[in-house]
Amino acid sequence: MTELELLDKAIEARGFSYSPYSHYAVGAAILMKDGKVVLGANQENAAYGDSMCAERVAIFSSRMMGYTKKDIVMIAIASDADDLPYPCGSCRQVLSELFPLDGKVICGNLKHKMEVKTLEELLPNHFILKD
Ligand code: ZN
Repeated sequence: MTELELLDKAIEARGFSYSPYSHYAVGAAILMKDGKVVLGANQENAAYGDSMCAERVAIFSSRMMGYTKKDIVMIAIASDADDLPYPCGSCRQVLSELFPLDGKVICGNLKHKMEVKTLEELLPNHFILKD
């Protein structure tokens, strides 16, 4: 699956967004090594702090399906905005534990404008607990 095809899956995932407050629908799609694609979309709540970004919905769903970061190839994130939907700080932190640091993060929009970075580029010197 190409980066562009995965971006189309993220665009498709936007259809599951619940965003009555921001009206900013975001979709995410994670490609697994076995070819499966796990989708996520932002889920908002009247108590704004209880909302969840598309990337975290997708990565937590993948965990519930039994996947770990060694199973992941890349993630695509899509919105309808001209400014590309880069992951927020909370998503970058969560992904730094559950997503490969050298995995591609594709940020794109409905016009297929996109940019590809690694997670490490998006969150250098990430926080992690050592044991
Ligand atoms: Zn986020």
